Amino acid sequence: MSDAPSDAPFPAPKMGEPYLLTPGPLTTDIRVKEAMLRDWGSWDSEFRAMTKSLCDQLVALAGDSTGEFVCVPMQGSGSYLVEAMLGTLVPRDGKVLVLANGAYGLRAAETLRVMGRTYTLIDKGDYMPPRGDEVAAALAADPAISHVIAIHCETSSGILNPVAEIAEATYAAGRKLLIDSMSAFGAVDLDVRRIRYEAMVSSANKCIEGVPGFGFVIARKSELEGCKGNSHSLALDVYSQWVNMVKSGQWRYTPPTHVVAAFMEALRIHAAEGGVPARGARYTKNRDVMVAGMRSLGFETLLADRWLSPIIVTFFCPADPKFVFTTFYDLMKAKGFIIYPGKLTVVESFRIGVIGRMDEHVMRRVVAAAKECLEEMGVASAAPPAAALAERAKLAA
Ligand SMILES: *Cc1c(COP(=O)(O)O)cnc(C)c1O
Repeated sequence: MSDAPSDAPFPAPKMGEPYLLTPGPLTTDIRVKEAMLRDWGSWDSEFRAMTKSLCDQLVALAGDSTGEFVCVPMQGSGSYLVEAMLGTLVPRDGKVLVLANGAYGLRAAETLRVMGRTYTLIDKGDYMPPRGDEVAAALAADPAISHVIAIHCETSSGILNPVAEIAEATYAAGRKLLIDSMSAFGAVDLDVRRIRYEAMVSSANKCIEGVPGFGFVIARKSELEGCKGNSHSLALDVYSQWVNMVKSGQWRYTPPTHVVAAFMEALRIHAAEGGVPARGARYTKNRDVMVAGMRSLGFETLLADRWLSPIIVTFFCPADPKFVFTTFYDLMKAKGFIIYPGKLTVVESFRIGVIGRMDEHVMRRVVAAAKECLEEMGVASAAPPAAALAERAKLAA
């Protein structure tokens, strides 16, 4: 029953395993899973070499070849890393402008509240993008703001936020930008030569296609050097983790060794595929094929094409009363696809992720499966309710 390592570019998950059309955990390559079938000593030189290579490769993915930026991996899921970045990079007397248009922006604000950092919030609702001119106005109005945090792809709607114009507005006002690029890094450009920021954060189980267990901060070295003692937390202190890694090559506390080994394989596959541009191109193709197919069934996307990320797409639930999301979910799962509920507050929606080890051929099967599900439920039209379209019209205004 074992699957041999395959050189086929997109081997299906094992018999009976569904594809995860979710934004991480996601469907991983069998070779990534197999890389976990060995135990590593965390102090051992081989593992330390893996950590070093991991950091070097991630800094290179961010476009830095000059040593201006450093990578600090840390145990935990993505939210641990956001907390670690905010707690370490923002001084205790700093003030953060949080740009929120969904759950992850609001979580960043909540993180600051819990750790007792001062912040102010621009909350754009479910999916409206925070724009450069709004950031400029907020910064001009409040000289106490030292940092801005932006969400690169707000995974709750799938919107790709305009980080380049946010960066411009932030630095034009002499402030510092931090970016949660959790669900975008590795597939969407966040090159330090093109977009200015002090630090960004991402995790193992998103666009690099590893398994969950750690994340990483990529920070400007000169900035991180000044962050000693900022952190509210012992374990989530990026500065201390970094200093320890530089000194000993080791993680401060038990590293997720198997996850790191899997990630090294995921990085190798990422590079072999052609790096960030190729990964982004595959996801973009996945999205375009899937969205065109779903639209041909009558489904409508929440966002106009301009804001659609190549990560995850929100669709309105059809107006037809015969459409029941939980039934649709179960039927899709029976056909081999795990989809994702929506996170909008105003109208019913669901999401389909396009990241992970799959290509456009899989996306065509997703659309075919959705078509069958509609037929099985007796849904004649997948068109959304008028209220949903009225909601969407706000974005165009
Ligand atoms: C996945 C994700 C996170 C982290 O979520 P965890 O559940 O803690 O891994 C943070 N921000 C964004 C934008 C994400 O997509």
